Amino acid sequence: MSDSLHQFIDGRWVTSRATRRLAIIDPYRETLLGHVTAGDARDVEAAVAAARRALPAWRERPGSERAAYLDAMADALAGRHAGLVETIARNGGKPLGEAAIDVDDAVACYRYYATQARDLDARQGEVVPIEADGIRARGYRNPVGVAGLITPWNFPLVTGAWKLAPALAAGCTVVFKPSEVVPLPEQAIAEIAAAIALPPGVLNLVNGDAEGVGIPLSRHPGIDKLSFTGSNRAGEAVMRAAAAGTRNLSLELGGKSPILVLDDADVDQAAELVMNGLFFNAGQMCSATSRLLVHRSLAEPLHDALASRIDALVLGDPLESATTLGPQVNDRQRARVMQYLAIAREEGLTAVRDPRHRDLPGHGYFIAPTLYRDVPVTSRLWREEIFGPVLCTRSVDDDAKAIALANDSDFGLAASVVGGDADRAASVARRLEAGNVWINTDQLAPPQGAWGGVKRSGLGRELGPLGLAAFQEVQQLYWPGTGPA
Ligand code: NAD
Repeated sequence: MSDSLHQFIDGRWVTSRATRRLAIIDPYRETLLGHVTAGDARDVEAAVAAARRALPAWRERPGSERAAYLDAMADALAGRHAGLVETIARNGGKPLGEAAIDVDDAVACYRYYATQARDLDARQGEVVPIEADGIRARGYRNPVGVAGLITPWNFPLVTGAWKLAPALAAGCTVVFKPSEVVPLPEQAIAEIAAAIALPPGVLNLVNGDAEGVGIPLSRHPGIDKLSFTGSNRAGEAVMRAAAAGTRNLSLELGGKSPILVLDDADVDQAAELVMNGLFFNAGQMCSATSRLLVHRSLAEPLHDALASRIDALVLGDPLESATTLGPQVNDRQRARVMQYLAIAREEGLTAVRDPRHRDLPGHGYFIAPTLYRDVPVTSRLWREEIFGPVLCTRSVDDDAKAIALANDSDFGLAASVVGGDADRAASVARRLEAGNVWINTDQLAPPQGAWGGVKRSGLGRELGPLGLAAFQEVQQLYWPGTGPA
């Protein structure tokens, strides 16, 4: 399907300087889809140099011109919708319907930041009201410079779009390193950059793993801004790398998000929201609401409703429209989840659906959807990000206890609250330590909103105006005179 040992640098595909290559696997068929190069520091060097050369002209362009390129990227992505959906499903193992959401979300993100880039022209030099006699003040938003963008595998095209679109809108040039696990969809971004004649060097895509590309990129002094999405372990390494040179940094990291079901909730609605909040993308979701806190009065009916919904999940080929739960992305990820299942056995956790309750497809890196109830708060399954289809639950006696348990976590990316009285649910939501809280609704991340976490879930926000600001520096001008110039 793909055998590219190339990098996209300075507006064209060039042969990688490196000789190592990375196998790309179909996680359902367990077959080889192709290879990408395991690029190395020389590729990073060339890409950073190209981005630096392109920066002065790109940052000087009016926002409206940068917007036209972003609209063209959105159009081109939308035009390749069917092919990209299939590539995401094959390489990442997620069902077609979920893969289609990835493409749609990426398109929406490029479109949104096209409008933001257009608005930027009018907002440059905004008058800042100050109290200083005879002094005028105006604010300008300059691009941070060359941005290094590093993304994970679980939402291809999307996590990249959340960085690429605002970076380009702001006037930054970029070196983008997609995940080595699911790199195939991201190749389209470079193909599109070439097809729409994005000026050379504005967008460089360097394929490779952490050792070959991620680490040299994060340490490169020619990078002014690092924007990273991935695990805490890697995020902290990137943070250390950013400390050299005191470089600008954004981090989107892990989570262990709670879903609270209040005593006045509708059980069927709660069951739907719990299922969608965890089993989407086979649990491989940073915002997965993997800790359920249910009011004791609803615990039995809710567990029954969840068990029957788990039994109705269809495990199988991501390319079959009937499939609702795909495999884990690779063997390593499956092994990681299985370690947690082994801990659950050792700890004697109570399984409503245990990992062996059903037959798995004959091939593919599947984990059976699993549900443990009354999980102790000391269990590693309760505290750590599993990143798989494993739901842990506890029953609570009141809202205060639910809030306290929800907040008893190192993470704070997301949360959900389900309750019959939306205002009461919203007041519970306000007391949760999380960057995004959904009340009686599925997980949404519209481009106009803000995405990011508190505590160990990250630094800064993506999406919305804050996502653009993450790639900007504000320059404040003061000068003598009366009234705005
Ligand atoms: P990962 O940290 O292993 O890899 C992410 C990216 O970083 C990859 O491109 C990888 O090659 C690169 N990388 C790894 N180590 C690096 C290092 N030391 N220096 C520079 N680059 C390095 O994560 P993953 O397994 O691809 O993704 C899963 C993780 O991502 C989960 O923890 C999940 O919660 C998190 N995630 C967070 C969000 C969010 O919005 N907060 C979104 C998606 C995924």
